[in-house]
Amino acid sequence: MIETANWKDRLSPGVNAIKPSGIRKFFDIAASMEDVISLGVGEPDFVTPWSIRESCVYGLEKGYTSYTANRGMMELREEIAKHYERKFNITYDAKTDILITVGVSEALDIALRAVVKPGDEVLIPEPCYVSYAACATLAGGVAVPVAAKIENEFRITPAELEPYVTEKTKVLLIGYPNNPTGAIMTREDLLKLADFAEKHDLIVISDEIYGDLSYGDHTHVAFASLPKMQERTILLNGFSKAYAMTGWRIGYSLANPTITAAMTKIHQYTMLCAPITAQVAAIEALRRGEKYMKKMVAEYDRRRHLIYDGFTKMGLEVFEPKGAFYIFPSITSTGMTSDEFAEKLLQKEHVALVPGSAFGECGEGHVRCSYATAIDKISEALARIENFIKNNKK
Ligand code: PLP
Repeated sequence: MIETANWKDRLSPGVNAIKPSGIRKFFDIAASMEDVISLGVGEPDFVTPWSIRESCVYGLEKGYTSYTANRGMMELREEIAKHYERKFNITYDAKTDILITVGVSEALDIALRAVVKPGDEVLIPEPCYVSYAACATLAGGVAVPVAAKIENEFRITPAELEPYVTEKTKVLLIGYPNNPTGAIMTREDLLKLADFAEKHDLIVISDEIYGDLSYGDHTHVAFASLPKMQERTILLNGFSKAYAMTGWRIGYSLANPTITAAMTKIHQYTMLCAPITAQVAAIEALRRGEKYMKKMVAEYDRRRHLIYDGFTKMGLEVFEPKGAFYIFPSITSTGMTSDEFAEKLLQKEHVALVPGSAFGECGEGHVRCSYATAIDKISEALARIENFIKNNKK
């Protein structure tokens, strides 16, 4: 269609203030090329385990095709409550504290819209998932990025956050294990953040979608399970990553009854409910899916070792990721920006990855590689990257 008026000026200020995600650009180029190995997408290369898919098939056979309660099926909410009780020793009431959403994506959006007043500031440790700052802006808030440092393996500390606190600071938005760095926060790290949240009376939105993808000696700690943190935490989680269910679009939030009711109001008027098919499958995932999930995590762990060793041997500065399925090497030694590196690597060696700058300014000088890719492809991609670095020395 040909536009004859200035439509951009008629858009909402929030939408004009945000940029399209820096991730997709490279996929569009990669899609037009042959023989590309993609370490770009943050998506499991497994299909959803069969028993989970089968539960959905049976559900359809039984006629589960309707809307559900706005908050989601009670059976699913009860399974989630049991899961958190068992795993983290925290009690959530299935009736008042749990909302089933269309992925963590929706949960993040409505959590921010429920609590942010115009001009409220949202502290966001970076590098981080691309949606955080955008959703905070769309909710009418002000995203305040705070750079985490590679010297500290991208863990954030209260000392780094403190200078950014003002009387408008309302929310701390964290995501560990982290996309794009693979960083984790230990219990001690989180306890320090908990003190910080209490000191400044902040609401903490904790995106724990990669919690089950923790490796080595690291065990995930739910932020809400820390002393005095449950009431001020909006915990977000979902099935996309751990259960290889990205296409099902199913997630949830755990929060106090007032915040949950507020989020439910927005959800009610925008989504109505999450798809019933996905809710039925999610019940099965929680009841019997853990063994399949653990198998996938073991396979990611194998790949994690391979990719970490590969980058270390190449001489790139990189730390061992302990969570999620990403590694975030520094490419500053090549003299290229992360954008140049990603673009040239794609053009010359047909390997797609994501420039670190897509995840915040402090991601510049790094690239994000996903190891949710078959092991032989990772080996081949590493050989191509090594070749590229050799041929493009400063
Ligand atoms: N949070 C993080 C940190 C992510 O990396 C992603 C997807 O990449 C999401 C949330 C969105 O997840 P969902 O598929 O549940 O909407």
